[in-house]
Amino acid sequence: MAEEKPQHGSLGGLVAGMREGHESGRTKELEWRQAQLGGLIRLITEEEDAIFNALHEDLGKHRVESFRDELGVLVKSFRNTLQNLKKWVAPEKAHAPLISFPCNALVVPEPIGVVLIFSCWNLPLGLALEPLSGALAAGNAVVLKPSELAPSTAAFLAANIPRYLDAKAVKVVQGGPEIGEELMEHRWDKVLFTGNARVGRIIMTKAAKHLTPVALELGSKCPCIVDWLDSKRDCQVAVNRIIGAKWSTCAGQACIAIDYILVEEQFAPILIELLKSTLERFFTEPEYMARILNEKHFDRLTNLLKDHQVASSIVHGGHADRKTLRIEPTILLNPPLDSDIMTEEIFGPLLPIVTVNKTEDCIAFLKPKPKPLAIYAFTKDEMLKQRIIAETSSGSVTFNDAIVQYGLDSVPFGGIGQSGFGQYHGKYSFELFSHRKAVLRRSLLIEFMFRYPPWDEYKMGMLRRVFRFDYLSLVLALLGLRHCCRTA
Ligand code: NAD
Repeated sequence: MAEEKPQHGSLGGLVAGMREGHESGRTKELEWRQAQLGGLIRLITEEEDAIFNALHEDLGKHRVESFRDELGVLVKSFRNTLQNLKKWVAPEKAHAPLISFPCNALVVPEPIGVVLIFSCWNLPLGLALEPLSGALAAGNAVVLKPSELAPSTAAFLAANIPRYLDAKAVKVVQGGPEIGEELMEHRWDKVLFTGNARVGRIIMTKAAKHLTPVALELGSKCPCIVDWLDSKRDCQVAVNRIIGAKWSTCAGQACIAIDYILVEEQFAPILIELLKSTLERFFTEPEYMARILNEKHFDRLTNLLKDHQVASSIVHGGHADRKTLRIEPTILLNPPLDSDIMTEEIFGPLLPIVTVNKTEDCIAFLKPKPKPLAIYAFTKDEMLKQRIIAETSSGSVTFNDAIVQYGLDSVPFGGIGQSGFGQYHGKYSFELFSHRKAVLRRSLLIEFMFRYPPWDEYKMGMLRRVFRFDYLSLVLALLGLRHCCRTA
């Protein structure tokens, strides 16, 4: 199947074609939506090997990691959407007050229209197909713009999406920033963007021209609080999960990877020793950890370690090979808080550990910081858990694990504040790409003239009763049994 590599100027025709396709009404049909979800499931299952190869070429991901983080999560999510779709598309009955009788109120989800999705390179399949499935389930026509920085996956999507989905209503447009900006010159009914905040601002600015609503899935520094855990086993489980959420998910190149750890000073040496010994047991071969995307990102990460005070805080690792784009799992103890590694999102296999006097001090540490996508805490202290939920703000909070919230279809995924806005996954994806239309059906049977001019105090009194739902007083007033101007 030929890839779609548009020339400048040809995008207008593509967008118009998509709009025509959507306006034909085909994409609104439940059967069409179900067929697209079925197509997505077949795409992932039948093309598994091609996907493993693409993800390996782009990021050096091991096939088991790719299955755990992308293919497995996706197929589970598509099945969940397929199972529930009939229920989600059904109009919801809404309460209508007695005063409006006879009246029937409904909330009817309708497709937003033609949607543009920008995906990012780190989970190049997942971050493209997860939102795509939601947009299709909601009955939209979709243009997908995969990241040019994961070119094998982008080419795979461009070649295979037309084979499995309705090629007239789902298009893949490949290209870099210029194509992205050109796409944003056109009118869309919704744009979902996953990537960095600098480009997020460009997207939002361009979307404003057409009043297009956007969802921005951005990055942040996700902290992880590690409290004292009494048993050796609990400590080991926590460390396994920390490593899983730092080094085993695209080598830390994940928006919800643990960025840094906060821990009590006296517990830090124990934690570091356990991290080191477990890293040794987990990563027995270099290919069990993904590589850094490209030289630019490699240099960005190694530059974070160049500051003298940061370099002297390294307690494990620190080696990096630009040829293979591999950076050793690296642990730092108390790098300066004003250094780049502690002020910028790391997005790589470097883990600073910051010590505090008491675990509770972590809350004061986090409060003034920008709201992250996720806060993690390994603790059994229920009071601490409550305080974290109540006193901090973030896209999500996960206790005693990390990153796994991404795989749940029942909770929304998205940021807050500088980590973005707009939530998706499961039913939240369907809702993100649907418009909830209010539908009221009234009859012409009963008519209250006090809603209309000419105004007088009688009408004012009746309206006051209506808005208090004071039916008894209203009926008495209508029957002339109560002074109609009284408001009490
Ligand atoms: P990227 O380079 O893949 O860019 C994302 C998308 O934006 C791509 O499709 C790209 O082509 C497009 N793009 C780039 N410049 C553009 C422009 N000028 N106009 C229009 N489109 C343009 O990804 P990145 O920016 O390196 O992403 C890394 C960031 O994304 C990190 O901060 C990370 O935390 C964040 N991220 C967030 C999530 C999330 O779900 N919240 C997921 C993954 C990554």
